[in-house]
Amino acid sequence: MIDDKFEFNNEEETEIAQINNLQSNAMAVDSVRRQLESQRQRPSCSECEECGEPIPLARQRAIPGVQFCVYCQERMERVRANYRRPDESLE
Ligand SMILES: [Zn+2]
Repeated sequence: MIDDKFEFNNEEETEIAQINNLQSNAMAVDSVRRQLESQRQRPSCSECEECGEPIPLARQRAIPGVQFCVYCQERMERVRANYRRPDESLE
């Protein structure tokens, strides 16, 4: 009787965990969907927000929601890397 009760509780816990998983999955899907919708609503999504050059479709497919062209992205990453360098040299 007690064992049955415990088993039932475990099943219940598993079910709750599964529901939680499904909910977080649904939330992830929802955020992706929202991202895609905001992309669709923004006509400038196919152009670099930095230089205004069109972003190749292949790049947009590879990085959904990409806002910058390869050159601007690289330049920004280089700037970010430069900011990081002093911290790294301290370690
Ligand atoms: Zn650019």
